[in-house]
Amino acid sequence: MKYNDLIKKMTLEEKASLMSGKDFWQTDSIERLGIKSMFLADGPHGIRKQAEAADHLGLNESIPATCFPTAATVANSWNEELVEKVGEYLGEEAVSQNVNVLLGPGINMKRSPLAGRNFEYFSEDPYLAGKLAAGMIKGIQSHGISACVKHFAVNNQEERRMSIDTIVDERTLREIYLTAFEIAIKEGQSKTVMSAYNMLNGAYTNENIHLMREILRDEWEYEGVVVTDWGGSNDRVAGLIAGNELEMPTTTGETDKEIIEAINKGLITEDILDECVDRLLDLLFTTEKVFEKEKKDFDIKEHHQMAQEVAEESIVLLKNEENILPLKQNEKVAVIGDFAQEARYQGAGSSIVNPTVLDNTLESLEESGLTYIGFEKGFDRYGKKSKKQIDKACELAKEADVVLLYIGLDEVTEAEGLDRQSMSIPENQIELIQALHKVNANIVAVLSCGAAVEMPWIGKVKGVLHSYLSGQAGAKAILRTIVGEVNPSGKLAETYPIKHEDTPAYYHFPGKEVSVEYREGPFIGYRYYDTANVKVLFPFGYGLSYTTFEYSEVQVDKGGVTFNITNTGDLAGSEVAQLYVGCQSTNIFRPKKELKGFTKVFLNPGETKSVTIPFDDKTFRYFNVKTNQWEIEEASYNIMIGASCSDIRLEETLVVEGTGAPLPYEKDVLPSYYSGEANQVSIEEFEALLGYKVPVSTWDRTVPLGYNDTIAQCQYAKGLFARFAFRAITLSHSFLWKIGKRSTANLIMMSVYHMPFRGMARMTGGIMNMPMLDGVLMIVNGKFFKGLRHVLKERKKMVKAQKKSQHLMNNSNKGEVL
Ligand code: BGC
Repeated sequence: MKYNDLIKKMTLEEKASLMSGKDFWQTDSIERLGIKSMFLADGPHGIRKQAEAADHLGLNESIPATCFPTAATVANSWNEELVEKVGEYLGEEAVSQNVNVLLGPGINMKRSPLAGRNFEYFSEDPYLAGKLAAGMIKGIQSHGISACVKHFAVNNQEERRMSIDTIVDERTLREIYLTAFEIAIKEGQSKTVMSAYNMLNGAYTNENIHLMREILRDEWEYEGVVVTDWGGSNDRVAGLIAGNELEMPTTTGETDKEIIEAINKGLITEDILDECVDRLLDLLFTTEKVFEKEKKDFDIKEHHQMAQEVAEESIVLLKNEENILPLKQNEKVAVIGDFAQEARYQGAGSSIVNPTVLDNTLESLEESGLTYIGFEKGFDRYGKKSKKQIDKACELAKEADVVLLYIGLDEVTEAEGLDRQSMSIPENQIELIQALHKVNANIVAVLSCGAAVEMPWIGKVKGVLHSYLSGQAGAKAILRTIVGEVNPSGKLAETYPIKHEDTPAYYHFPGKEVSVEYREGPFIGYRYYDTANVKVLFPFGYGLSYTTFEYSEVQVDKGGVTFNITNTGDLAGSEVAQLYVGCQSTNIFRPKKELKGFTKVFLNPGETKSVTIPFDDKTFRYFNVKTNQWEIEEASYNIMIGASCSDIRLEETLVVEGTGAPLPYEKDVLPSYYSGEANQVSIEEFEALLGYKVPVSTWDRTVPLGYNDTIAQCQYAKGLFARFAFRAITLSHSFLWKIGKRSTANLIMMSVYHMPFRGMARMTGGIMNMPMLDGVLMIVNGKFFKGLRHVLKERKKMVKAQKKSQHLMNNSNKGEVL
C-alpha cells in the first residue's frame, strides 16, 4: 500500500469515516492528519457545482459553467480528438471550481430508444462509446483531477432504476455492456468509476463480486476508486468487500458504524478497509495537488466558442432533397417553432448545467445573413393543441421561400429518472408540419432532441437537420450550418428505427417489477436491424454532407485496412469512414457486422487521402462462455469500409488464425440468436443462453415490503396508511402535470415513486436512519401504532447519537485521537 504509514496513524473510526460522504458532494476530512475533503460534482457535459443548498436532481441552480453539447450529440462527431478537447475544457472549468472528481462521462448502452438518459450517453455501440469516453477522460484528467466513468454497469432504464435486476447473459454482458467501460478504464485510465443503481444478475452492481472484483479489479487491473451512485448503496459491508471505496452522499456516519462493527465482530478483516482507504487517499492526494497551483478563471468566451465548434461538428444532416440546404442568401425565410424561441439544448436531471451564456436563434438571425421575414411559434412545446397557432404559422409560411421549422422534444420528456413513453414527437407538431406542407413545400426541419424519434412526417419536409442537444452555443452552430458556413459532418451514433415496435427490446423494455430480461442478447441497435434485415429510417453511422465522397483502393493486411477517400464535390468537408467486421463462419452466432474502428478525414474539393484504420485487440475477439475468456475463431472475416453501417463502400476478406477454443453453444437450442431475429426470444431459449432458469420477474404481492421495495409498491401494501400515501403521491403527480408543473411532477416519479424505502434513510442526510425506517416499514405493512412508536423512539436515539458524535469529531479535529 502506498500510504501505509499514514493509514497506521488512523483510528478505525477515522478510516471508516472516509468511506462515505461528509455531505452531499464532499468526502470526509481528517484535519489532524492533513487529510482534506474531496469535492465531487456533476457532469457530464458541464460542471454543476451548487453554491447554495445541494441536491442531486438539478433543483437548485449551480455556479455558471459552459454547457457543452451532451454526449449523445458529441458522439455524432465521431471525433476522438474533439471529444478529448471537450474533456480538457471541462477539466479546466472543474479546476477553477475546486472540483476533484467530475462525475462523467456516462457510457451506458442505448438498449432502447426510450431510455430516459440516452441523451447523456454516447451510443448503442460499445466500441464507439468506449473510444469517445476514453478521449473525454484523458482530456478531463489532463488537468490533474479525476473523471468518473458511470454507471457501471448495465443501467439501461430509468424506471425502477434503483431496484431493477438486469438479467443478461455473460457474453452479451462482456461484448455489449462492458466493452465501453473496459476501453474507458484501460485506455482512458479513469481514476474513478461510479457503480450503477441497479442489480446485475441478482446482486447490486456495487456488491457484485463478479463485476467489481473479478472483472474490474482482477481482469482489468483497475486501481482507482469506486463510488456508489447517489443513494445506491444497499449493504455497505458487502460493498466494501466488493471494493467500493466511497458511498455517496452522507449517511451521517450510520454506515461507517456498520463497517466498524463488521470488523470488530471479525466478519471482515481490517485489511479490506485499509486497501480501500489507500486507494481513496491516492485519489485525494493526486487530484488536490492541482489546486495548490495558482488558479485562474476560465475564459468564458473561448469556452463558449469551443462549445459552438463541437456543436457544429456534431450536427447530422439527415435529409436534403433537391439540395434545399444550404439556403441561398436571397431566399425569404420564415422561422417557425417554439424551439427557435427557447432552445432545447440539454436534458433534465443531475446533468443540468447553468450556462454561462445561451445563444438564441431569433437573436442570431441577423448576423447569420438569412433573409428573415418573421417568426411564429406554431405550437406549444408541451403538446397543447392550438389551431390559432397553426393558422398564424401557415399565414407566415405562405410569404416565404423556405420555412425553417424548429421541432423536437421538450425538456421534461427527456429526463433522468424517467423513460419516454413513446418515440413520437408531440402530435401538435405533426399537425403543424402537415398544415405547413399544404401552403409551402420547402420546409427544413431543425430537430432538437437527445434520442431517436419516429418520423412518419418526414415525407412532408425537404430537409432534416438534427442538432441533437447542442449545448449553449447550439443556436449559432445550427444557423451556420443552414447557411453553409459549416459543412455538416456528423453521423448518427445510434439507429433511427421506423417505429418503436421494430426495436429489439420492444417486448422487454422497461422491466416493470423485479427484473428486466435482456432476451435480445447482443442484438442491440444496428446489430439487430442489420442481422435480422429489419428496415430502418436511418442506419447507424448515417449522415449527409454538402459534398460527396468516394472510397477506393482498399488493402487489407494483418495490421489493418488502408484505403483512399476522395472529395468528389465542390465544397471542403469531412467524412467519417467506418470499419465493420463480420465473420463468415456460422459456428458461433454473431451480428452480421460490428464496428471495429473509424476515422474522420477532412478533404478539400478534389483532394484524395490515403487512410489506415488499424486492427486492435477487439477486432476479431468474442467472449467464449465455455473458456470464460476472450477468444478468436479461426475463420474468414469480411472487412468492410462503410459510410454508414448499411452503406458499405469497400469490402475484402481476411483469414484469421484462431485461439482454438471449443465452440461455446449448441446451435439447435438457440435458433433466434443464430438467425439474429432476437426480438421475441422465448423464455426457454433465453434460459438456454443464460445457462440457468430466470428468476421470477413479478412481485410476490403477499410478502411484507422491505428496504429494497419501492414506494410505488405501497399500492399493494397491507397498511391503509401506505395505500393512502400511494394514492396521494399519484394524485399529486397528475395534478402537477395538469397544471403545467411538469418538472416537479417528474421529480415525484423519480425521487419518490421509484425510490426504494432504504433511500429514505440513505438520501435524506440524517433526517432518518435505518432503525427509524424499520418503524416506517411496520406502518407500511399494517402495524401503524407499533411502527409510529418505533419511529419516534429511534429518532430520539439518533438525534442523541448525532450530537455525541459531532462533539467527539470536534475534539478529534482539535488534535485528540478518538
Ligand atoms: C445520477 C448520477 C449523478 C448523481 C449525482 C444520480 O442520481 O444517477 O449520474 O452523478 O446522481 O448527482
